[in-house]
This record gives sequence, structure tokens and C-alpha cells, in this order.
Amino acid sequence: MKLLHKKIEQEGKVLSDTVLKVDSFLNHQVDPQLMKAIGEEFAARFRQEGITKVLTIESSGIAPGVMAAMELGTPLIFARKKKSLTLSEGLLTAEVYSFTKQETNTISVSTQYLKEGDRVLLIDDFLANGQAALGLIELVKQAGAHVAGIGIVIEKSFQEGGKLVRETGYRVESLAEIESLNDGQVTFKKGAEV
Ligand code: 5GP
Repeated sequence: MKLLHKKIEQEGKVLSDTVLKVDSFLNHQVDPQLMKAIGEEFAARFRQEGITKVLTIESSGIAPGVMAAMELGTPLIFARKKKSLTLSEGLLTAEVYSFTKQETNTISVSTQYLKEGDRVLLIDDFLANGQAALGLIELVKQAGAHVAGIGIVIEKSFQEGGKLVRETGYRVESLAEIESLNDGQVTFKKGAEV
């Protein structure tokens, strides 16, 4: 996605050979125009899938997720990372090891919102080692719902998540695919759509 590639080139900060910081438009400050375009792109790619819910993880998946949900005319659900006082019963849970925070979180979704028969589009900001996506897949399965596709804003293709998640057989669409962050440089995957 051309607009996203441009934004990453202009504003992305390579923190190490494995971590890209995009705090100026996705992970802290949010660019609403870019998020709208991202939502439209996800919706265009998954419109034929009969999506009934969009599911993401708080907090950075919410902005692209809500825009995709708006375009698809569905609700957005965000899995919570922390226990909520007002949300304690009827929870589906999965364990997710966080690549950036290096800690395990129990993510949860209420059975009130994710239901048997739902066709769910999973959205996340990054795909690194695939743990977040696999956790979301687990929640959908527990609900007896169906994973209709997985939409990723930025995939780091040099990490194992892409392979792991595609091995589940679900369709994965990434709007930017990064082949390398070596030498402080962002290199996009060759042949990837720009
Ligand atoms: P995974 O579960 O695929 O290993 O990692 C995905 C999660 O880790 C994403 O939800 C994202 O929040 C975070 N993440 C992974 N890699 C990066 C990165 O290079 N930059 C940022 N900002 N977040 C990342």
C-alpha cells in the first residue's frame, strides 16, 4: 500500500535489526487519514468473506481495526490484555507472549460479543513472531466462530510469524511487508505491492 510505505519511509525509526518504531502515526500518535485508507484497503481485500465481526488486541490494533469495521459495517471487538473489574464472567482467554514487551499476557474477550457462527476478520498493527495472531485465532476457535481472514498493517517478513500463521491455512493480507531492518534501513520485500 503506497501511502503506508511512504509513511514508513518518512517517519519510521529503526530501533534495532528487529524493531521498527512508528509512534508518529500508529503506536502513539495516530494519523486518522492513513487509518481510514488502511480500513478501506482491508475492507476491499476481505469484502467477499461475509465478515460479521472485526477482532483486534488493545491498544494499537484498535485504530486500524475500527476503520476496517466501519468500512465493512460490522462491530469491532478488541481483546483486552488486562483483567477488567466490570468484565469477569463469560470470558474466553488465551496466552500471548509479547515480542516488544517480552512478557506473557492473558488476552480475553467476552462470550457476549464473540459468538458461534461469527465470521471474524482479525486485524493487528504488526506481525512479528505471530503470537498475537495465534492468540486471537485461539479466541475465535473457543467461541465456535470462524476466522475469515487476517489483516496486518506491517509484517516483518524476516521473523517467523508470517510462516507460522499462514501454516494455519488462513488467508493473511499484509499492507506493508518488511524484508529487513538491517543497518538502520527499512527494506521492503521485493515484489510486494507498493
Ligand atoms: P507477534 O505477536 O507477532 O510476535 O508481535 C505482534 C505484536 O507485537 C504487535 O501487536 C505489536 O504491538 C508488537 N510488535 C511486534 N514487532 C513490533 C515492531 O517492530 N514495532 C512495534 N512498534 N511493535 C511491534
